Formats: sequence, C-alpha cells, structure tokens
Amino acid sequence: MKAFEWVNAASVDDAVKLLGENRKTDPDETPRPMGGGQDLLTTMKSYITRPMRVVNLKTIKDTGKIESDGKGGLTINALVTLTDLANHPEVQKTYPGLVEAAHSIATPQIRNMGTVGGNLNQRPRCWYYRLENLQCLKRGGDTCYAIEGENKYHAIFTGGPCVMVHPSDLSPMLMALGATLTIAGRTKRELPIDQFFTLPTAENVRRENVLQPGEIVTEIHLPATQAKSTYIKFKERSSLDFAMASVAAVVELNADRSVKTARVVLGGVAPIPWQLPKVDSFLKGRKLDEATVSQAATLALAEAKPLSQNGYKIPLTNTLVRRALTKLNA
Ligand SMILES: Cc1cc2nc3c(=O)[nH]c(=O)nc-3n(C[C@H](O)[C@H](O)[C@H](O)COP(=O)(O)OP(=O)(O)OC[C@H]3O[C@@H](n4cnc5c(N)ncnc54)[C@H](O)[C@@H]3O)c2cc1C
Repeated sequence: MKAFEWVNAASVDDAVKLLGENRKTDPDETPRPMGGGQDLLTTMKSYITRPMRVVNLKTIKDTGKIESDGKGGLTINALVTLTDLANHPEVQKTYPGLVEAAHSIATPQIRNMGTVGGNLNQRPRCWYYRLENLQCLKRGGDTCYAIEGENKYHAIFTGGPCVMVHPSDLSPMLMALGATLTIAGRTKRELPIDQFFTLPTAENVRRENVLQPGEIVTEIHLPATQAKSTYIKFKERSSLDFAMASVAAVVELNADRSVKTARVVLGGVAPIPWQLPKVDSFLKGRKLDEATVSQAATLALAEAKPLSQNGYKIPLTNTLVRRALTKLNA
C-alpha cells in the first residue's frame, strides 16, 4: 500500500474541504473519502487506488441515522451501515426489497462495517481491473481485456468500451424505488439516483458516476410508497458473493390486481443498474398472470448482447425477472 495521510473529518463541510485540497490529475491518486473501508482499503492494498489522503467520514457527528422525511418517506444518512439499514423497522415495513438487497451483501462482518454511501460508490469487481499489475482501460490503459478474454461475469448490455458490471446490490433496488441522493461539494445538490451512474465512454471510462472530486453522497431519500418490492439475486456461492444477475422490482397493483405502476431494474448485467422502461410500460394495466410475466421477462432481455462466455446470463436473468414479478403478485 502506498503511504497516505489519514484525516478524520469533523463535519460534512470539513470533509468536502479536505477532499478538495491537493487534488491530482490522476483520479486514482486524488484524496478519497472512506466510510467502512471495506472496498477502499482493498483497492489501496492492490495499488489500484493510491490516494495521497484518506478522509474518514465516520467521525462526522450526528451521522448514521435513518429518519422520517415528514412526507411518508425516509432519509437515510450515507454513513448508515448495511446492518442498520436491514434492521430498521420502517425500512422493513415499507421497503422490504431494500432489506433483501442489504441482506444479500457479503457477510455480517462486512455489513457491520460497510456503509450505504460506500456501497453505492464501490469500484468494479472486474478481475482485470482488480489485477495489481495490469493497466486495463479503466485504469488508464488502452484495452478492456474482458471483451476478448475471460468474460463469464461481465456485461450483457452495452458492449463496451469497458464491459464491467456495476457491483452494488443496493443501487438497482434504490433505483427501482425512485430514490434521490443529496450530494455535498462546493454546493449542495439533489439528484435522482437514475442520473447518478454513468456508462463508460471513451472520455469518462475511469469513473462510474457523476461525482466530481471533492464531492460526497450525504443522504439517500426514499419516497413514500404503497408498492410492494423485492430483490432477487443469483450468486455462484450462497454466501460472500456478488450478483451474477439480480432483479429489483417494485410493483403497485390496482384493486382489480392490474398493475398501476411497475419498475424493474437489473443488477450484475451492465456497467450501471440497468433500467427497463419498456418492461415498466408493458406491465402497466396488465395482470401479472403467467403469460404477462413471461412476456415481460423476454422483453427485459430482448436487447442483451452477450459476450463469448456469458450467454447463460440471459436465461438466468429471465428466470429472476419471472420469479420477482410472480412473487409481487402473490
Ligand atoms: C468479500 C467482499 C464481498 C462483498 N460482497 C458484496 C456484495 O455481495 N454486494 C455488494 O453490493 N457489495 C459487496 N461488497 C462491497 C462493499 O465492500 C460493501 O458493499 C460496502 O458497502 C462498502 O461500503 P464501505 O463503507 O466499506 O465503503 P468504502 O470502502 O469506505 O468506500 C467504497 C468507495 O466509495 C467511496 N465512498 C465511501 N463513502 C462515500 C460517500 N459517502 N460518498 C462518496 N463516495 C464514498 C470511497 O472513496 C471508495 O471509493 C463486498 C466486499 C467484500 C470485501
């Protein structure tokens, strides 16, 4: 690990100031915020991230809270741990899909340390990106080795220039729930989470979201909802594993059991949580019978373009979509 300066932030303003000083042109060397450190320290140990300063957010006062927004929704501080998120009675009552997503992450030990903000901002798990001595496209090189290489765990949507998959389990669920984020930097701004993540392009392949250096996520807002939600994740091992594919689904039914609103978002299949607006509008007004569910699942994968080793993700994801919609109709 490269030597670095460790600083405890006393407040959000303090953190923003500390992160804004001594910026480097290489994004991997610029000062980084730290929540639970469950991802950041791993990338630092492999010299993937080499920040000259780490700003500890956990010393900021009055954080780690989940509070009512007074309008039936919830405000989750970005420093809430994954364990506290999953155990919160209001989250369990109104957003069960979010509890399932949080429970599916890693191990109890990692969930005790890991924060919601860190989960959304964790770096990709692509094995080429994580290889210490390899400079892939995302690390400033000129090749995405997964496109022609070992791509079993990679994206089936978009096709490049980098075919990583977005690793966070909370993100697809928060997107399906219509969450918004508060971002603190030189100014404070609110952003719907579906505008937060960025697809890799030739110009911005080294980042995964719209955060500018010095900015941090401070809050996640969940709107009030009457809808049912679920998160179904398939992993190769039953514990301590990332999604090979996952589905976050939020459905509100009318009194006659036709769909009032639906939002389905896929995880583990694209460089960002993958929204399916065509599926959402197809479902509206229909009853979730077997035929509708099956057509929705086919539609969800219609634009997938698998790589040489990940064609299995199409039937896998199709099954997960059918399971999620069938569950929400029960
Ligand atoms: C063995 C293992 C298994 C895992 N399995 C899963 C899994 O199944 N699903 C899953 O989703 N994740 C998984 N993770 C990834 C991740 O460590 C956890 O999800 C955890 O939530 C990360 O939170 P953290 O607070 O420790 O992040 P940190 O390590 O502190 O930060 C992660 C990144 O986010 C940045 N960051 C932190 N807080 C903020 C903020 N408030 N605003 C802006 N940027 C911020 C940091 O600079 C860093 O780049 C796993 C990790 C390990 C080590």
